[in-house]
Amino acid sequence: MTTLLTIPSHYTQVDDGPFKLTWECACGDTGVTDDTTSAGDGAFAHQREEARKILIDLNGEQFAALLRAGAANDWRETAAVELLVRHETWLYDETLRMDYLDAKWTANGDMVTRVNWWAVGETAGSTGRAPLDGSESEMTILRVAASIGGDMPLRLHLDTTSLDTTNRGLVLTAIGHLLSHGGGVQFASATAWTQLPQRRRHDYC
Ligand SMILES: [Zn+2]
Repeated sequence: MTTLLTIPSHYTQVDDGPFKLTWECACGDTGVTDDTTSAGDGAFAHQREEARKILIDLNGEQFAALLRAGAANDWRETAAVELLVRHETWLYDETLRMDYLDAKWTANGDMVTRVNWWAVGETAGSTGRAPLDGSESEMTILRVAASIGGDMPLRLHLDTTSLDTTNRGLVLTAIGHLLSHGGGVQFASATAWTQLPQRRRHDYC
């Protein structure tokens, strides 16, 4: 059962003066522009740091709920996030949580978290982030998700050869979700997420 979680607000605002010299957070923290950091960058860094503290403590269900909320109303992101959620491995990956999510707060205090699919597609590369690491099959799931949620090129005929039958089903469903919603066409229920069996962590690969 999902444990309800109260996430504190870190909605930040930068002063609206012409020089934007200060920022203030709903939590009470404040900052000023200095020689190296603008108020906007300072506010961004504060949100990022606070988001990391929250993300690291979430269990898999809570993290999945946060990802789903962030992807809501976007069929591509929903298909990509749902693929990760159903596959489960990446829900518990600390590097993904710490380095590959964009998080911010809305004015009403809601935390909105989205996977940075571009960075996931690049993984280490030029992004300066810690590399994401997994088995060949796990990395393939991640590449497929990054291709759906972002714009990472994918060679379906080559890149999916490491997947077992269950994971091929997850990929097929993700693509079905994308095609169905992207064109406003309802696919046959064979590609509905609800028909997939729920699996426990580590039941794959
Ligand atoms: Zn704050």
